[in-house]
Amino acid sequence: MKKDDAVLEIPDQLKPADGRFGAGPSRVRPEQLLRLVEVGGAMMGTSHRRPPVKQLLAAVRAGMRDLFALPEGYEVALGNGGTTAFWDAATCGLVRERALHLVYGEFTSKFAECTRGAPFLADSILVEAPAGDAPEPAAVSVALAGPEAGAGPEADVIAWAHCETSTGVMVPVLRPADAADALVLIDATSAAAGLPVEITQADAYYFAPQKGFASDGGLWLALLSPAACERAERIAGERPSIGPDRWIPEFLSLQTALETSRKDQTYNTPAIATLFLICEQLQWMFARGGLDGMVARTRESSNHLYEWACAHPHAHPFVPDPTRRSLVVGTIEFGDEVDAGALAATLRANGIVDVEPYRKVGRNQLRVAMYPATDPADVQALTECIDWVLERWL
Ligand SMILES: *Cc1c(COP(=O)(O)O)cnc(C)c1O
Repeated sequence: MKKDDAVLEIPDQLKPADGRFGAGPSRVRPEQLLRLVEVGGAMMGTSHRRPPVKQLLAAVRAGMRDLFALPEGYEVALGNGGTTAFWDAATCGLVRERALHLVYGEFTSKFAECTRGAPFLADSILVEAPAGDAPEPAAVSVALAGPEAGAGPEADVIAWAHCETSTGVMVPVLRPADAADALVLIDATSAAAGLPVEITQADAYYFAPQKGFASDGGLWLALLSPAACERAERIAGERPSIGPDRWIPEFLSLQTALETSRKDQTYNTPAIATLFLICEQLQWMFARGGLDGMVARTRESSNHLYEWACAHPHAHPFVPDPTRRSLVVGTIEFGDEVDAGALAATLRANGIVDVEPYRKVGRNQLRVAMYPATDPADVQALTECIDWVLERWL
């Protein structure tokens, strides 16, 4: 390892046009930002209870409807606090008695911690798989009670992530055959707009806009099925009879979020720039074939990344099962002869940023986000830059 050497200078002609490959926040297109100044500027600093901003929110909701081809009865809800806040809102407002979680990385485990910590719920059921793999939703029974779970009610919610961003594993959104009345809650924070989905397979397909939508953090969006809306309404209404233990803070009330979203507003003040950037990105997506067009892009990017890694003498995809390798977040493991941390640092010094692995995965790897805003040519340039550095090191 040549860590002590002067930092290598990668030739400019090899570098990607845009060097941002972070999994979130992720690259915002410069054109989006220009439009924010030129068109959105007049909206900034105006009331979110008045038409210009309300129209923006309406456009975001309508855009999500179109992009995901939402069936009748599905609703688009929004709230402040990002996906992390939605986990708490879902814990309070969608889980009746017990949740079942497929856990295969940081984000899936964080939601499981939310329901596990709720004093008004029975112990959550966890079905775990090691980093780089994932449990099979279809094989999971909602009645399943692991040794940790003990006896108790059946799960009325089953939760997993479409893409586990910490490891780059994707799990398809397919309602388990025996789900019965259990709601299927899908964390699509990194997957939304970049992975194919049939929305009727989920009751809540939720995400934040700083990943696939090339916007900024702080907001959550959820596509909710009629069953999920009904559950939220019932739990909110039954609150006293559920018992004094279930106190739902207004900020975390899904019912309140639904009611304000229907009026094209949020419960409290949203970040207007974030909404504007989502709207711009939605238009950009529609001009390029909508969801199908975006999936074609992420497929092209990820095919290149994984084919490059498979053929590489010093690297391989971290996720062994090719069908589980995410189209939007790729993790590439290196042999011991390569210090991936030093590689990421060298790339960073050259303006290619945020390819470090997720902090808690702790492997000798790089993580590359390939959201729709990323030009597949930039992923190609990235692997050329990595090869250029490795040729000088090894
Ligand atoms: C980024 C991410 C989150 C956290 O999103 P925040 O908006 O920061 O709360 C949750 N789940 C997944 C799958 C993510 O990729």
